Amino acid sequence: MNTRRIGTRAVHAGAGLDPASGAHSTPIVQTSTFGYGTFARGERLFAGEEEGYVYSRVGNPTVATFERAVADLEGAEAGLGFSSGMAAISALCMTVLQPGDQVAYLGPLYGGSEGLFYHVLQRFGVEIRSLDDGDLSAGLDPATRLVYLETPTNPTLELHDLRAAADAAHSVLALCVVDNTFSTPLLTRPIEHGVDVVVHSATKYLGGHGDALGGVLTGPAELLGQVRMEGLRHFGAALGPLEAFLFLRGIKTLLLRIERHCANARLVAHALREHPAVARVYWPGFEDHPRHELARRQMADFGGMVTLELHGGRNAAERFLDRLELFTQAVSLGDVESLATHPATTTHQLLDPELRHSEGVTDGLVRLSVGIEDPEDLIDDLAAALEPQAAPGR
Ligand SMILES: *Cc1c(COP(=O)(O)O)cnc(C)c1O
Repeated sequence: MNTRRIGTRAVHAGAGLDPASGAHSTPIVQTSTFGYGTFARGERLFAGEEEGYVYSRVGNPTVATFERAVADLEGAEAGLGFSSGMAAISALCMTVLQPGDQVAYLGPLYGGSEGLFYHVLQRFGVEIRSLDDGDLSAGLDPATRLVYLETPTNPTLELHDLRAAADAAHSVLALCVVDNTFSTPLLTRPIEHGVDVVVHSATKYLGGHGDALGGVLTGPAELLGQVRMEGLRHFGAALGPLEAFLFLRGIKTLLLRIERHCANARLVAHALREHPAVARVYWPGFEDHPRHELARRQMADFGGMVTLELHGGRNAAERFLDRLELFTQAVSLGDVESLATHPATTTHQLLDPELRHSEGVTDGLVRLSVGIEDPEDLIDDLAAALEPQAAPGR
């Protein structure tokens, strides 16, 4: 257990001087395979009698440094890298689940995860059950193998109580798995609340620059060892060493970026709330957010995501988004640049409209991933796009 503070750990996590060369920056070990040296060592490596790298699909030194870094920040025993967030989630599911098992989740979830559950796992005989926050244990039974959740949720930034979910999971001997992509370990460390496994899409805040895809699991070493030898080895979605290096570089500035994302999101949320064209702003830092107290307990700050609902539905959203200049209309989040999306016609387009509305994804809803630009410029851009009359040049 690293006793240094989180900001120091983010800068130093996982690394140290390279033992082979003394390099101060983590070397990118760009190789597919590793020589055994001798016939006898090859046999020992394959028998598991000696630890060492064999083939980069199952392990690579640069990837291992990234895995140690995220595990350190989450306070986990071990980490395991993947080529994307979805690869991490599906490898975990394919390793621990079998037909007859049940996955219980607290929705709404990232669309890809819900798709994996309903379109793939269900086909392999896994029962999927949606849980009610108010009465978690009612949805669980001895067949429950995973209790799965995200906090804050996408796109309406609801919060779930991590301790309650972990306790409920453990009461039926299930694993509690949390997707911590929106919070990052600098704001929330689910393992400290009793959660077993934490998932990240490293593509988002950990990388932070929108230039690499990756995912990571952190949790108990023994469990992740199994996932490495099944979900990773057999499905093969290995993280590349170059991407691992980019994530390690991103993590070094994670504290600075997150502080700025949070500070900017706070200013943007307050500015939008004042605006007459805006019907509602979702941001867990507002004192009247339904789970504000929980957010204060579970999060060090309120994150970089802000969602707004415009008066005027789809037409208002289209006009607003097309008039933004600094915010890029694109999915993804957690980049240094600000991004904006219209969930109803993009990420949530395929959802049944009734379910979509019940999740709060209305036609006037716009999700912002607030970047690290000067906040005044972001607020000016939003205000100009909300202007009733077209301003000159717009
Ligand atoms: C993006 C995202 C994922 C999927 O990650 P990829 O790296 O795109 O595969 C999973 N969960 C959340 C919350 C995400 O935002």
